[in-house]
Amino acid sequence: MPYTQGMSAVPRYAVFGHPIAHSLSPRLHALFAAQTGRALAYVTLDATPAAFTSAMREFFAGGASGANVTLPHKSAACALADVHTPTAHRLGVANVLTLLPDGRLEADSNDGAGMLADLSGRCGVDPRNREVLLLGAGGAARAAAFALLDAGVARLTIANRTEARARRLEEVLAAPRRVRVLAWDQLAAAGAFALVINATSAGVQRAELALPASLISAQTFAYDLSYGPAAQPFVAWAHAAGCGAASDGLGMLVATAAASFLRWHGVQPDLAAALRALQG
Ligand code: NDP
Repeated sequence: MPYTQGMSAVPRYAVFGHPIAHSLSPRLHALFAAQTGRALAYVTLDATPAAFTSAMREFFAGGASGANVTLPHKSAACALADVHTPTAHRLGVANVLTLLPDGRLEADSNDGAGMLADLSGRCGVDPRNREVLLLGAGGAARAAAFALLDAGVARLTIANRTEARARRLEEVLAAPRRVRVLAWDQLAAAGAFALVINATSAGVQRAELALPASLISAQTFAYDLSYGPAAQPFVAWAHAAGCGAASDGLGMLVATAAASFLRWHGVQPDLAAALRALQG
């Protein structure tokens, strides 16, 4: 369905999720807008899975210019778009929707690139030739899995609370020699990994993630895609288990927000300054 660009004084954007109150995206886009001298409105919109598609259509029918999408809507966001970037097409999930000049909605996914940029930049971690454990099989895990395989990890082990979902992801990745799925209760016998990535939403849901300390060695880097209080239990668990280092996904959020900003406004914001402002 084609949409018409809004006539309001400032272009409108939002991040859709459920829950969404924890999101730092409005703050980040306000920081980028101030850095680059742009006027825009960017808000959070909470939509349940049942309401998501109609809420998004209503948002664009009301004249909005773009939207970010977070848990648990990344598949639905990809499905409702009219056109897909090669990455969104390949992944089947999207975190950025953009109104094109011809009124069609474009879906893109920049989560994988944002995670790799944060790992190699702020965290100083090169995933090439590493044994990697990915916890989760939702929208963000899917983007992370493709990115990690593209980056040249030696082997990607996926474990998800619902094993069937991990099996579906394994099938889509189509790299049987480098991907395996373990049931959650097999993790205790799996040994330690060089990189353990938490792509579950347990932290955001305030649910406990029961993990064996044997996944961690002094060489392990532990990374949680979520940020702030949601990442604290996993990061604290990794430190208690004796990891070499651990990080939350704040740098990934800044990188993906900056990529969205560049897509919508054609200007590259200052990531380091935004990260400092969020941490300050
Ligand atoms: P989805 O809802 O698509 O997937 C959630 C995943 O978490 C599923 O694999 C689900 O397992 C698992 N899960 C949920 N609760 C539990 C639990 N109690 N114990 C174990 N596993 C659980 O969410 P997304 O993939 O979109 O997002 C995942 C996380 O990544 C969120 O916290 C999100 O904030 C974060 N994120 C951060 C980004 C950043 O820029 N820093 C970008 C993208 C995501 P099951 O299949 O069994 O339901």
